[in-house]
Amino acid sequence: MVMKTLDELSRRFEEFLDHKSVITDPVRLRTYECDGLTHHRATPGVVVLPETAEQVAAVVRICNEYGVPFVARGSGTGLSGGALPRTDGVLIVTSKMRRILEIDVADRRAVVEPGVTNLAITEAVRDQGYYYAPDPSSQQICSIGGNVAENSGGAHCLKYGFTVNHVLALEIVTPDGDIVELSDVDPGYDLLGAFVGSEGTLGIATKVTVRLTRAPEAVTTLLAAFGGTEQGGQAVSAIIGGGIVPAAIEMMDALAIEAAEAAVACAYPEGAGAVLIVELDGPEAEVRHQFDEVTRICRESGAFELRTAADPAERAAIWKGRKSAFAAVGRISPAYIVQDGVVPRTALPEVLASIDRLSWEHGIRVANVFHAGDGNLHPLVLFDDAEPGAGERAELVSGKILDLCIEHGGSITGEHGVGVDKSRYMPKMFSDDDLDTMQLVRCAFDPRGLSNPGKVFPTPRLCGEVPGVRKGVHPLVESGQAEQF
Ligand SMILES: Cc1cc2nc3c(=O)[nH]c(=O)nc-3n(C[C@H](O)[C@H](O)[C@H](O)COP(=O)(O)OP(=O)(O)OC[C@H]3O[C@@H](n4cnc5c(N)ncnc54)[C@H](O)[C@@H]3O)c2cc1C
Repeated sequence: MVMKTLDELSRRFEEFLDHKSVITDPVRLRTYECDGLTHHRATPGVVVLPETAEQVAAVVRICNEYGVPFVARGSGTGLSGGALPRTDGVLIVTSKMRRILEIDVADRRAVVEPGVTNLAITEAVRDQGYYYAPDPSSQQICSIGGNVAENSGGAHCLKYGFTVNHVLALEIVTPDGDIVELSDVDPGYDLLGAFVGSEGTLGIATKVTVRLTRAPEAVTTLLAAFGGTEQGGQAVSAIIGGGIVPAAIEMMDALAIEAAEAAVACAYPEGAGAVLIVELDGPEAEVRHQFDEVTRICRESGAFELRTAADPAERAAIWKGRKSAFAAVGRISPAYIVQDGVVPRTALPEVLASIDRLSWEHGIRVANVFHAGDGNLHPLVLFDDAEPGAGERAELVSGKILDLCIEHGGSITGEHGVGVDKSRYMPKMFSDDDLDTMQLVRCAFDPRGLSNPGKVFPTPRLCGEVPGVRKGVHPLVESGQAEQF
């Protein structure tokens, strides 16, 4: 029955899409069976590659006619399974919608189609002294539509804010197939804010107006080595508490440093139990003043070595270890779980000490690499999948880390989204009433529940599935298309 409906749907799509843009061949469909969370897979019923908003709307209207679910997909780099397709549904891929429609430097904005990559926006305005600020490590390949859906972040979002702070307007196709505009100047409810971060459940973005940011006059990067993460965490709190908002503050612990040394020989200070990378940018005089302050704070917090990058080559050398750290753990462990949680910055020393304790109690190593300024942890839970029971213990530790985040008033995700991966943790963070209220918002946009169903909200089917297990280097990192922060 489902096959018959999908066959009929495909014929309807071919009335307005060329036949190459309607994929039904089982082999070609498998290209789209997962996103960056590769252990969740499903072959989509049909894949379409529209080129205009009108075509997206027509696809969605036909899905509505038949009551068939649909899922939007940008570049498929998501790490929470948000773009996982439905075998009984239609996958709407935006990769043919790649035009930069307008650049307006005077008003500091650009209008782009959803399939445009994050970095392409910066490349289009760099010569004029501007850039697009949110910088996920996947920026060479991830789409701006995917960034909007995930409210993506990056190392420099501490100072400049996440995607939501840089989207000025959207054109969307609603779940019943209307094309509407949402803007940050609209009076009334903030529907633009509701859409950003909605993970494809409130419709499909077909045009994105983004804010352009002026490139800073000066940039300084500093590496501070500490005996352990507790001292590093204290330095982070003192820097931010002292009124300084660096462009980025990133931390790595001893195990993450060991992995990075093994992978890229980054030559970080010997004996470091933690390193902090602090990047300052802005007007030259301000950067100079902040540099003196950050140096003083790091010393007072126990830094035993400080290095400063004098030029772009030295800056790249400092970042090298950090940028490679995530993928590098493949050098010291056959398998690992990628976690993404948030705690208040002030809770960092306590939470990191508790993660250490969990690691010791369960005999599972945890490498910590994280956006320290945002309190956004990316613990990498290492295990040997050949050892009986190790996977289960790693999963237990991984779940307990999220419990710690919640206990300290944080969140189960900082930037990778909920998707299918973390939907089962939502009831730990939110009450039934909270979840019902969220569902009311979803239903207001999508009463029939056709837009990316099964994501974000828990269903019993997902209980007990293993989160984010990864073996070796991510394929996108390996191919040089993305760096893992
Ligand atoms: C190596 C690597 C590094 C990464 N680093 C970071 C990082 O530093 N920070 C970070 O935040 N993330 C990071 N990510 C995760 C990922 O790149 C981001 O979530 C990104 O925004 C996803 O974009 P995409 O185009 O690949 O979206 P997809 O994976 O295709 O889709 C993601 C979600 O968006 C929805 N969606 C896609 N397009 C649209 C649209 N037009 N309208 C509505 N919904 C849509 C999908 O349904 C899905 O729910 C990383 C991923 C990898 C593999």
